[in-house]
Amino acid sequence: MYVSKYNLFIDLGEYPDLSIIQNIFHGQSTVVPKSLADYLKNAAPSGDLSDLPDAMLSLLKKKGFIYDVKKDEDKQIETIYSQFRKTLPKANPSRQYQLILTYDCNLRCIYCFQKKIRKTTDNAVISETQLKDIFDIILTKERANEEEIKQKELPTRVPLISIAGGEPLLDTPESKKTISNIIHFAKQNNFHYSITTNGVFLDKYIPIFKSAGYYPRDIQVTIDGTKEYHDRRRIGVGGAGSFDSIVQSIDSILEEGMHISLRINVDEMNTSSINKIADYILAKQWTGYDEFSAYLAPVTDHSSVNKNYKWLKQDAGLIREIMRMFAERPELESIFTMKNFRGFQYVKRIVEKKEKAVPTIWRCEAVLGQLVFDPQGDLYTCFEGAGNESARIGTYSPSYEIDAQRDREWKSLNAIENKYCRRCSYRFVCSGGCPWHIVGQQATECLPVEEEIRLAWNYYAPRVLGSLA
Ligand code: SF4
Ligand code: SF4
Repeated sequence: MYVSKYNLFIDLGEYPDLSIIQNIFHGQSTVVPKSLADYLKNAAPSGDLSDLPDAMLSLLKKKGFIYDVKKDEDKQIETIYSQFRKTLPKANPSRQYQLILTYDCNLRCIYCFQKKIRKTTDNAVISETQLKDIFDIILTKERANEEEIKQKELPTRVPLISIAGGEPLLDTPESKKTISNIIHFAKQNNFHYSITTNGVFLDKYIPIFKSAGYYPRDIQVTIDGTKEYHDRRRIGVGGAGSFDSIVQSIDSILEEGMHISLRINVDEMNTSSINKIADYILAKQWTGYDEFSAYLAPVTDHSSVNKNYKWLKQDAGLIREIMRMFAERPELESIFTMKNFRGFQYVKRIVEKKEKAVPTIWRCEAVLGQLVFDPQGDLYTCFEGAGNESARIGTYSPSYEIDAQRDREWKSLNAIENKYCRRCSYRFVCSGGCPWHIVGQQATECLPVEEEIRLAWNYYAPRVLGSLA
């Protein structure tokens, strides 16, 4: 017999006689006596399960925790990969287009991953000619996508234009005109658009959204905790804090009925402010708006430009601390989602949806053909890599040229083809790590997926025990 290498055997602190087996390829999970979990774990290297009765063997086989031979599991992985691929149109499977309007920004955040790029590029904003080139490329790609979707009857979704920077919503006539043009293009073609902004001048753009009569699907704004923490970390060019103007923008946007995703950047410096920011959100009554959501996100440095910023940690210390806070104050879980903590989110979805998890093959849009356009006329596939020569996949202005080899390299960095992660048992949750980290540094950036899953199951165990399939 072969015991799946994707089985994770999780001891439950509060229930010493029980364990959970979580298969992190196909997503099946089940509660078993700890003695059975220990037996399977110990038997995994030899595959000798001769002490188990036939009925138990066939149950474990049915759930995909064991196979006759390893090849059966490999075949299942291949089948799922090819099924997933068949559902995607080829021209741009992600159906996403990101526009970096400018590398310029009105803030100087202490951990900014673009600080080097700002020094080496000018403050240009994407020009009208460039914008026209971008729109032509998007329309060509989307016509090809639509054709294929129709022919093969593939699942469809609305293309998304995401607007980012630097800071895309600067208080300049040039930025306002560019945003207005993009909104009209999105409206004309029935595409969604979203904006990632620091929020300082966001409320000055409300008249533009209103006069276009076409609201963004989502506006992502970031704060770093309460005013006290935030103003020390997200600082204006002249040294002033940015908290008050961001909050004012959020109030106005919610009043207009537009969607705000409030990202709260957390690292070891500001974890202690999570409770206070929750109090603040409740006092502002933002959670009363259907169009409001907030999430905790670990500060990351995929570009490795913040080597001296000591608060970033790759281990599970951050999630451990957050879990402790959730256990102490359960309402925090209803205020903040945790989508960027992949291991935790994986278990949460199983618990909430009451169904097995789906393997994640593609970590992000960067490996699915997303196109990122910058003001230098260059093309990328990852927003965070933009501005770096090693991440560039081509140009779009003055001419559209793609470096096929680089493009292929990015697309191969999925959980199946990624040579760095082929042997890893966590690859269907971590999904091969951040591709930009691999391209830029020829190394993986392994996440603490295993510990997050263990912590999450221990957190949810009292809620779900007995109800698992
Ligand atoms: S490649 Fe890395 S940094 Fe870029 S979008 Fe994907 S996960 Fe994010
Ligand atoms: S980045 Fe690390 S943890 Fe993630 S799949 Fe690759 S080897 Fe595994």
